[in-house]
Amino acid sequence: MSHTHIVAIGATGGTISMASLDRGGPATPSLQGEDLAAPLHQWLPDVTVRSTSLFSVGSPQLRIADVLAVARFASNAVRDGAHGVVIIQGTDTLEETAYLLDLIWDRPEPLVVTGAMRASDDAGAEGMGNLVAAVRVALDERTRNMGVLVVLNDEAHLASLVRKVDANALSAFKSLSWGPVARVVEGDVTVVYRPVVRHPALPYPQASPPRIPIVTAGLDDDGELMRLALHARPRGIVISAMGSGHVPVPLADAAEEMVNAGIPVVFASRTGGGTTTQNTYGYPGSEVDLLNRGLIGAGWLDGRKSRLLLHTLVSAGADRESIAAEFSRRGRG
Ligand code: ASP
Repeated sequence: MSHTHIVAIGATGGTISMASLDRGGPATPSLQGEDLAAPLHQWLPDVTVRSTSLFSVGSPQLRIADVLAVARFASNAVRDGAHGVVIIQGTDTLEETAYLLDLIWDRPEPLVVTGAMRASDDAGAEGMGNLVAAVRVALDERTRNMGVLVVLNDEAHLASLVRKVDANALSAFKSLSWGPVARVVEGDVTVVYRPVVRHPALPYPQASPPRIPIVTAGLDDDGELMRLALHARPRGIVISAMGSGHVPVPLADAAEEMVNAGIPVVFASRTGGGTTTQNTYGYPGSEVDLLNRGLIGAGWLDGRKSRLLLHTLVSAGADRESIAAEFSRRGRG
């Protein structure tokens, strides 16, 4: 990396920035973006770091409006000369914020989201290693035009596929369907694949909370809880369905009622990997049945990512047909 490399870092809080007031006690946000960025020159002496504290919260408290503020920060940073941007946040909602950012990020410059599983004062805290790796990925020419990437544990993942799959482990982030797109070893970034298509950025969604419940299908679900959602006037519903898109028949009946009430209903797989199918099973409650009833398949997107895509589309006033078309495009890769 030459002296010309500039990275912008925006910190929002999360475990990476936390410490406990009493040794061994619960951790709360304590480090600002500037504190986290200060040691970076030890490993990245040729990089100019511009750090900002945006928020200082645990990531379950982040709101859509905050993610839009992060997107504006990143756009401004690139406009002001940054070659890449790193966002620091808590890991609990990282897979969601990264995907929402990915939907609206229209720049070639890499936008990388990172965090840590261990608080800054924990033994073996890995936050600084993650931040160094995130900066390396954000400044690597080969990660340009790949949209938003998630970097933890020396791996880079596509925002559209990655999930937090473990509540505690350092290796908490996985892309079960395809694996990481890159790894960082000895300071080198090795990109092993890149998506064939980069979808055009969508308009920023409304900043309001997405009133789109995710209903996880479970054994013997009678559909009554989904019907209750109608009272909250949802703008869409996501079903986290069994296998490649299957639900008990009473839940399929309730979902059809929602579709007939003009509510877009998307079904994703609850398994964490793989895609919803279109033509594999024809029994009642199967994916073929759900598609015939007017539901929309999420493809490779999971329920949480589907909820954010649906929010972005209904925010733009998309009708059922264009929602289905967009899911079929973006849900395929
Ligand atoms: N609860 C924390 C958060 O998401 C967890 C973390 O950062 O790893 O803010």
